Amino acid sequence: MTASDCIFCKVFDKKISAKIEYEDEEILAFYDINPQAPVHLLMIPKKHIEKMSEMDAKDTPLFGRLIYKAGQIAAQKNWTDYRLIFNNGVEAGQSVFHIHLHLLSGRKMHWPPG
Ligand code: 5GP
Ligand code: ZN
Repeated sequence: MTASDCIFCKVFDKKISAKIEYEDEEILAFYDINPQAPVHLLMIPKKHIEKMSEMDAKDTPLFGRLIYKAGQIAAQKNWTDYRLIFNNGVEAGQSVFHIHLHLLSGRKMHWPPG
């Protein structure tokens, strides 16, 4: 499912270029254009879902695989310490409304987040 006005759908349709780390039929992992850490990867399902709160129960295997794959990429890359974040809604910091998991690594993280 592709939304014609969605920048992340355009990334996996290869209409917008990105540095891709991993791709399969359901998932794409690519590097953020404006990295907030030395490593800043975005993990997206190719299915256009706007945000976490729009996720359907039938999507749970897809999201299980997405999160598992994030961990696998990190292990393969030797990124031992990292943070995984879904921003849901503008107030939470979401600016692109195609759900994505941020993987941040390579610097000391602070808690609580700002
Ligand atoms: P959000 O703020 O929605 O949680 O995260 C959206 C992220 O997408 C931001 O970190 C932003 O830098 C990144 N981003 C926005 N447009 C593009 C793009 O065209 N290419 C890539 N690679 N990242 C993008
Ligand atoms: Zn999309």
